[in-house]
Formats: sequence, C-alpha cells, structure tokens
Amino acid sequence: MAEATFKPVVVLVGRPNVGKSTLFNRLTRSRDALVADFPGLTRDRHYGEGRVGDHPFIVVDTGGFEPVAKEGIMAEMARQTVQAVDEADVVVFLTDGRAGLTAHDREIADRLRRSGRRILLAVNKAEGLSRANAAAEFYELGLGEPLPISAAHGDGVHTLVEEALQGLVPEAPEPGTEEEAAGAGAEGEGEAEPMPVPHRVRLAIVGRPNVGKSTLVNTLLGEERVIAFDQPGTTRDAIEIDFERGGRQYTLIDTAGLRKRGKVFEAIEKFSVIKTLQAIEASNVVLLMLDASTEISEQDAHIAGFVLETGRALVVAINKWDDADADRRDEIRREFDRKLRFLSFAKMHTVSALRNAGIGPLLKSIDAAHAAAFAKLSTPRLTRELHAAVEQQQPPRKGLFRPKLRYAHQGGQNPPLIVIHGSALDQVPDSYRRYLEARFRETFSLQGTPLRIEFRNSR
Ligand code: GDP
Ligand code: GDP
Repeated sequence: MAEATFKPVVVLVGRPNVGKSTLFNRLTRSRDALVADFPGLTRDRHYGEGRVGDHPFIVVDTGGFEPVAKEGIMAEMARQTVQAVDEADVVVFLTDGRAGLTAHDREIADRLRRSGRRILLAVNKAEGLSRANAAAEFYELGLGEPLPISAAHGDGVHTLVEEALQGLVPEAPEPGTEEEAAGAGAEGEGEAEPMPVPHRVRLAIVGRPNVGKSTLVNTLLGEERVIAFDQPGTTRDAIEIDFERGGRQYTLIDTAGLRKRGKVFEAIEKFSVIKTLQAIEASNVVLLMLDASTEISEQDAHIAGFVLETGRALVVAINKWDDADADRRDEIRREFDRKLRFLSFAKMHTVSALRNAGIGPLLKSIDAAHAAAFAKLSTPRLTRELHAAVEQQQPPRKGLFRPKLRYAHQGGQNPPLIVIHGSALDQVPDSYRRYLEARFRETFSLQGTPLRIEFRNSR
C-alpha cells in the first residue's frame, strides 16, 4: 500500500458580501478553458482548483456559519461550512476593510478559533486604503496579523496564497519563470518532448453515498483486502491500493467512502465533496457510479462537472441494474441522456457490483479510456488529419478573414491537448472546433477522455 499526498485544501470563510466569490474566481480562473468545451454543464462554483507556481491546490468557497438557523437552506450552508472547515488544511477568513469589523465577524472568528484549524485573516477591499488603516481594527480578533488584499484588483492575493500554502507545497518558483517555460515549449513546433505513458491505471471510484462504491471495491479486491484498506489517514494523505485484474495493473485511490466497511462504528459516513475532488485530482481515470434505483441528482451532475474540470478520463457505471425493471431501465437511460448529456464522450455501462455482473467490460472501458488519455499523437498524423478535415469542410469566412489551419501538434496528455497553428484562428467558430474535435476523436480513438483543442496564431 502506498500513500500519496492529496492536494492541499484552502477554505474561504466569511460573512456574505465580503468578496469570497470574487476571490474564489480569481484563484480558480484557469479552469474555464476546458469546461467551455462542454455546453450544458452547470458548474459548482464552490469548489475549484487554484495554482501557485507548479503546485495545484483545492479552493472551497463556503456560505457563512449562520448561528440562528436550525433548518432550511441556511442551516444546510452552515453544516457544509463546518464540514469544509473540518477538512481544510488552511482556512482563509475574509473580512471587509470598508465595512469594518462587525459582530458577525466576531462570531465567525470564535467558531474558527474553536475549530483548531490553521487560520489566515484577510481584510478585503483594501485597495486605496493604507495598510495600517485597513487592518488595524481586525487585530482584536486575535487571529494574527490581518493581511490586506483586494480580491477585485488582485492586490495582496499572491502573498496571501503563498502564506496560506506555506509548508503545504514546496517553495514557489520566482514569479515569471512559469510563463517563460510555457513560452519556450511553444517554440518546439512538433518536436514534442517524449511523453511517458504510465502503465498503471490510477483509478478513482466516485459517486454519491450508497450507489455501491464499496461493494464494487469488494468485488474487485475481495473482502480481506478492503479491511486492509481501512487505514487512518488525514485529509492530505491519500491511501492507495494496487491490484491486478486480467494481467492489467491498477491503483485504486481511496475516498473515505470506500473505507467505511472496516469501521462498523462509523457506518454512516458524511459525503465529502472535498475528498471526492481530491481523489479525482489524484487519479488519471475516474469511474463515476450512478444508482439505477434513484434519480440522477444535481450532486451526480456536480461530481461529473469536477471530472471535466480536471480533464480526467471518465467511465460511467449505472449500478444496481439487477434491481431495475424494464420500465426503470428505460427511464434511467433517458434521464442520463437528458441530465448528463455533456458526458457523451464517456462510455456508459450498466452493472451490478453486488452480483458481479458487467464488471469485465467495465474494466475494458477503463483501460481504453486510460489509453486514450495518454495517446501519443505525432505531428505528421495530426497534421494529415487536420488537412483532411479542412479539405472536407473549410472553416467559414468571417468578414475579410478566412482562418488558415496549417499544422497541429500534441501539447499535452490526460487530457490530450491538440494545438493547431495557423492564422486568423481567433475567427474559428465553436461549431467548427466541435467538428474538428469529432474528427480527431474518431480517427485517433479518443473515446473516454476529454479532449482540448487550442488555436495558436503564428507570428
Ligand atoms: P461574497 O458574498 O463574500 O461571495 O462576496 P462577493 O464576491 O459576491 O462580493 C460582494 C461585493 O463586493 C461585490 O459587489 C464585489 O464586486 C465587491 N468586491 C469584492 N472584492 C472587492 C474588492 O477587492 N474591492 C472592492 N471595492 N469591492 C470588492
Ligand atoms: P457506497 O456508499 O457507494 O460505498 O455504497 P455501498 O457499496 O455501501 O452500497 C450501498 C447499498 O447498496 C448496500 O446495501 C449494497 O448492498 C447495495 N448495493 C450495492 N451494489 C448493488 C447492486 O449492484 N445491486 C443491488 N441490488 N444492490 C447493491
């Protein structure tokens, strides 16, 4: 059994209107490109990935602790805030430097102090305020030195993030080196560096509670291995377990949900979005499990959305097929097409984890998705396919311009990134991008993985 390290979790807490979602958006912006390729996907705007230098971290935006509410949406928000704080590596407590310190801030500070987590205090909307003025009154919260920032303008945000992640990621490189490295990579037109293909599938099995994740793990590993799986771990330590099936090697990445079998006294485990997200991030292929006996929910769609945001390969299993009669089977298929249409790139299987039915084909699709995610696409093959696609259908002229697509090279894996070079490429419409994507998918057998296409104008 190996232990890998999960990405650190930074949780944003503060009363409404202090600027949490503004800060969240600033920290997680880089994801938009990939998700834009999936029309119809509603994103969960509360969980995302940020990056400092080369080091990714998970950002969570929470509602506040609403001390009065006992039920309803406020109480639910408070419950989720408590859980997120519980699972945080570091909490950023955001306050509003223009509104000043409020009673509600004091309450939140109290709750946070009792949580025992590491807390950073940030004073937002501090642009144009002197450092001393912005921060002075917040010292009395007793949470250390208040850091003035402006989430809207970006002032102080880098310092805040570095401070927050201190000790959680290796030292960040000098600012600027990252861009230079990326720029240098772009010059090597076609001379892509060799990309290693990992032969192990790193598999995360995710889904709502009760869909049958641990039953499937039992079926895959056998009962006694699952007990061994039950190791205490902190949030940041991912437990991994290696297994072999049909001569293929897999590493299963644990989410707490998979481990509950050994812990009889903790039979009812809370669903953790954070742990799910961490497992997805630590995997290269995700198995999303749905339950044929219940409706596809918003939560299922959100988990699917995370997978797309990370660009991991994906296979879907609708479990408990043994439990569904013919009507229910039709219904869930229709529901899947309606609610999870944006997963059309992924293979969907109907299985029974309990009765060990459909598991062989499922593993085959997992292997295929893994192969697709790490496919090696040479510049000549990509360029040939690009030219064939253009010959069959030209990109539309826009005003004076007709985009010229000259050649293509592979810019990355998991997900595959195809970089197309040419001119007037900013005029290529989305419909044409999708046409190209479908061609590449078909020609290079890329089922099971998201695919990114990037256009780069030659100078
Ligand atoms: P949340 O409720 O904590 O998520 O707060 P929002 O991010 O929605 O921000 C609340 C309001 O504060 C919005 O009108 C933002 O435009 C504004 N805001 C956020 N950050 C800043 C900032 O750094 N400076 C100023 N002046 N306004 C900000
Ligand atoms: P998890 O919370 O996702 O790990 O779900 P579990 O593996 O604990 O399964 C939840 C319940 O669904 C248990 O009572 C299982 O016995 C049952 N279950 C799991 N897989 C199947 C299946 O394929 N068919 C049926 N009928 N029940 C199943």
